[in-house]
Amino acid sequence: MHSSFAPEHTVETVCPLDCPDSCSLVATVQDGKLTALDGTHANPVTGGYICAKVRRFPERVYGPDRVLFPMVRKGPKGLASFERASWDEALELVAAKMREARQAFGGESILPYSYGGSNGLLTQDTSDATLFRRLGTSRLARTVCAAPTSAANLGMYGKMASVAYEDYPEARFILLWGANPSASGIHLVPFIREAKQRGATLVVIDPRVTPLAKQADIHLAVRPGTDLPVALAIHRYLFEEGHADTAFLAEHANGADKLRERAQPWTFERAAEEAGIDAAALRRVAELYVAASPALVRCGWGQERNRNGGSASMAILALPAVAGKFGVRGGGYTMSNSASWGFERDWVDAQVPQTREVNMNHLGRALLEYADPPVKVLFVYNSNAAVTTPDQTRVLRGLSRDDLFTVVFDQVMTDTARYADVLLPATTFIEGYDIARGYGPITLRLGRPVIEPVGEARSNADVFGALVRALDLQEDGEPEGELEEMLHVLGRLPAAIGGDLRDQGSATAPHGGRPVQFVDVWPRTTDRKIDLFPPEYDREAPAGLYGYQPDPATPQYPLALISPASERTISSTLGELPRPEARLLMHPDDAAARGLKDGDAVRVFNDLGEVRCNLVVGPWIRTGTVSLPKGLWRRHTANGYTGTVLVPDTLSDLGGGACFNDARVEVESALGSGH
Ligand code: SF4
Repeated sequence: MHSSFAPEHTVETVCPLDCPDSCSLVATVQDGKLTALDGTHANPVTGGYICAKVRRFPERVYGPDRVLFPMVRKGPKGLASFERASWDEALELVAAKMREARQAFGGESILPYSYGGSNGLLTQDTSDATLFRRLGTSRLARTVCAAPTSAANLGMYGKMASVAYEDYPEARFILLWGANPSASGIHLVPFIREAKQRGATLVVIDPRVTPLAKQADIHLAVRPGTDLPVALAIHRYLFEEGHADTAFLAEHANGADKLRERAQPWTFERAAEEAGIDAAALRRVAELYVAASPALVRCGWGQERNRNGGSASMAILALPAVAGKFGVRGGGYTMSNSASWGFERDWVDAQVPQTREVNMNHLGRALLEYADPPVKVLFVYNSNAAVTTPDQTRVLRGLSRDDLFTVVFDQVMTDTARYADVLLPATTFIEGYDIARGYGPITLRLGRPVIEPVGEARSNADVFGALVRALDLQEDGEPEGELEEMLHVLGRLPAAIGGDLRDQGSATAPHGGRPVQFVDVWPRTTDRKIDLFPPEYDREAPAGLYGYQPDPATPQYPLALISPASERTISSTLGELPRPEARLLMHPDDAAARGLKDGDAVRVFNDLGEVRCNLVVGPWIRTGTVSLPKGLWRRHTANGYTGTVLVPDTLSDLGGGACFNDARVEVESALGSGH
């Protein structure tokens, strides 16, 4: 089958994984096999280098965990006990179970479950959407990540394009808030370094001492969940001490008075007390921000993962508006840039049904408690729900239900795949087409097949299309298979963008890719103004917009557990590759208070569950906060549970986001704990 390949050659493609950068890649192929992946300069921002994670991608493609052919469960759920099946058998079984569930319980008894495991424009919301919409399944609210920031960016600015990485060196002041580009979105780091070399002030707000926090002029190691009062204290200073740009606000913003009112109670002292930081350092950050131009805020995702995450993200994104920092290159803010192309993903003709919406953070509840109708078929793709979703105990109990028919369509034997009734092998991005849209750099590139599918793996477009036909849901003229799907999507994009992608493999954004906010791009709200206080958000947030909900810590569980992105996985993708064991990071003072030392086997626990692992003690995290890496698999801890077992399935104030950083825990030695 590989006769078309020369003994060794290279193919250019793009990384579509859930990372902001969308690196342009060159793949080396020998005898039809992928042997290496590296960066190219085709995407100039990614500068010819890639992360260590994706360098290991060949190990995923050919590794022992790769799913090579369809399989049907033959033993108990959870044990990965399967027997091989043909594609026809597997798809017939899936179609029959969907038909059966729909007849007996209605379409809403089918729950599709997916996120950004394969983040390209072809691998999600194409033929999968056609299938699930026409079946009238429950609709999934994809909220496990980026929901609060997305709501904030949408409500306040209509997702206006934001400052490009290349313009960071222009900034005289950079505030990195809840972002650790050294682990995720690595290509921002050299631009920040260059800005620093040119004399910019760098401020980092993060509970951990990240690599850039070490180089920062000021690092505010806030207690998780307190970003909101910290940002409001800066607003209070701007408004009350005469630094608000009232002329800009009058012309370009609505709701400034309401923001001012909500910020009023938050003096530097009060906010600093709540956040566990030094009030003078916080005041200094505000003063430096006011004094500098261009001044830039990089709003990350760390601050959204708690009960106050939506309001916190709103308050952070409001800073350049109130301080008057727009209108110059290198000034303003950077948030997700995925919307800066000016098109929506609306290439599926099937109507969105008005069916039940299930928040993906409530998967455990949905599987165990939803009764009207119960979930009878779960279809998981682009996701490893067993380890990435809050309240892992509930999720695993749900997945264990004997009367639940679970389909998992994935590239490797994930922890979720072990619970499948039918397991379908998916192609990786190396084996097919995709369109990758960066959400850091403003880039859009076409990915091409580098090798033929490994084993019997098939693309998402292909498999969902086959199910559409098996269930008699197809309409005339709809694309069949991946290549047709790609051509269909290219045809639905704005003509210039689709044409460039087709002809040259990449496109240029309408504003040229380095927009100056309020010069080249404007809020995409209905009146083209910034909305600092959308009334519907005030109604949605339990304590009102910019209303602070206190820390959920108790005397029994005083430690905040966070789970930030690591240098090893992209969310949980690549978690199957061999790695050192996962360890819990704790500050020396917290360790001493518990009689614990570096390397100890510990038990991290609360009322929801426990994780057993080893401890690493160091000053790289603030006191009162402990950290486990994001994206762990069950094999990475001593008891087979990951950090999500300790996370409540409560939701953020806006957008229904996950509250990973609201886990409150205690830690003790695992030896002689009696448990
Ligand atoms: S994960 Fe990010 S940094 Fe790594 S290759 Fe993909 S786009 Fe580049």
